Amino acid sequence: MRISRSLVTALVAFSVGAALVAQRGQGTPIKAGEECPPGMTEVRPGSCQAPTMPPPSIVDYRPRSTLVTAAHPVPRAKYPAIDFHGHPQGRLTSAASLSEMVSELDQLNVGLMVAADNLSGDRLRQAVSTIAGSPQKNRVRVLAGIDFRDVGPGWADKAVPQLEADVKAGAVGVGEISKSLGLSVMKRDGSRLKIDDPDLDPVWDACARLNLPVFIHTADPQQFFAPIDNHNERWLELALFPGRRYPSDRFPSFEELMTERDHVFARHPRTKFVAAHMGWHANDLPRLGRMFDAMPNLSAELGAVLYDIGRQPRAAHDFFVKYQDRILFGKDAYEPSEYPYYWRVFETRDDYFDYYRDYHAFWKLYGIDLPDPVLRKVYYANALKLAPGLPRDAWPQ
Ligand SMILES: [Zn+2]
Repeated sequence: MRISRSLVTALVAFSVGAALVAQRGQGTPIKAGEECPPGMTEVRPGSCQAPTMPPPSIVDYRPRSTLVTAAHPVPRAKYPAIDFHGHPQGRLTSAASLSEMVSELDQLNVGLMVAADNLSGDRLRQAVSTIAGSPQKNRVRVLAGIDFRDVGPGWADKAVPQLEADVKAGAVGVGEISKSLGLSVMKRDGSRLKIDDPDLDPVWDACARLNLPVFIHTADPQQFFAPIDNHNERWLELALFPGRRYPSDRFPSFEELMTERDHVFARHPRTKFVAAHMGWHANDLPRLGRMFDAMPNLSAELGAVLYDIGRQPRAAHDFFVKYQDRILFGKDAYEPSEYPYYWRVFETRDDYFDYYRDYHAFWKLYGIDLPDPVLRKVYYANALKLAPGLPRDAWPQ
C-alpha cells in the first residue's frame, strides 16, 4: 500500500493533537512575547496546541461567512467618474475596440478614462487620432510617457522637446511613470537611475511650465520588500508571483525609494505630482497625511489599494473627508467587473464583504460611506482641477 505524504502528515498531526488533549488542555507553554512552535496556535494565554486535524493550506482555506447583514452592491457609480489610472492598452488602436470599451464604461458610469500607458511620438499621435475621430471623443484622454533610457548629461535636451511635441499632439499630463524608475532603470554610466537624479530636473520643471500633472508610481507595497515569512501580509501573492519580490541584495529598500520620490516632490513645488496607489501608504494614512500637509503640490490616486482603504472604514472615511481635495479615483488594470467593488466601498456602509482578489487580501472590506460632496471631488472634480486638458463638459455642476 502506498501511504501518501498528506496521510502521514495527518497521522502525525492527529497523534500530536491527541497527546495534547490527553494533557487536558495544558498545551505547550510559551513565555510572554514568544510565538507558538510551528503547527500550533495559542489556545489559552501562554499555552499552545496543535489542531487535532491536519490543517488545510492557506491556499485551500476559504471559510464561508455566516454573517447575515444588509448588502448594497453598487453596479454604477453615483456620479460620473474619471478613471485617472487607465490602462486601455490595445483598445485605443481601433474605433471598434474603443467603442466597445466605452460601452462598458457607460454601464459603470465611468465618464472618462485617462490612459496612463506611457505613449509618446507616433503611438501617442495614433491613439489621439483614433479617439478624436470617434463618436466617443470625449471619453478618453492620454498621458505622455517619458523615456528614461540613457539618462546622463544632455538627456533632457531631447526629453523636454519630445514632451512638448507630445503635449502639442494632445497629451494632457505625464505618466504613468513606472516603478522601474528607481527599481531597475540604469543610467548611461551604468549606475541605478535614482528617482531624484538631478539630470531629470529639467523634465519636472517643464511639467510645471506646461501645467501638466505628473502621474508617478514608485516602488510597490512595502511587504514586497520585506522577508517572505509567516508575518508577511502578502505571503500568498509573493509566493504566486516571484517577480514581485524585491530582495535587499538586488534592490533598493522601500524607504530608500520613498525618500528619493519625496525629494522630487519637495524640490519641485510648482510641479503637480499625483502619487499612484496612494503612494503605497494606504496602509499608513497618517504618513500620507503628513506628506499632503508638507507638500501642497501632491495629490494621490487610489487604484489597486482598495484592500487597505476598505479594511479601516472609520479612519479611511475621516482621511478622505480631511483630504477630499487631494485624492483621485483610478482603477489601474482594466477589468470592468472590478469597478463596482470601489463604488461599494466609497458609497455604502456595508460590512464585511469580499474583495476581488483573494491573494491581495485575505480580509474583508467595509464601506467608508463618503458624503456626496467628497464623492464628487474624488470621482471627477479633483482630476478636472489638476488636468486642464480634460474635457470640461458633461460633469455635474
Ligand atoms: Zn498603472
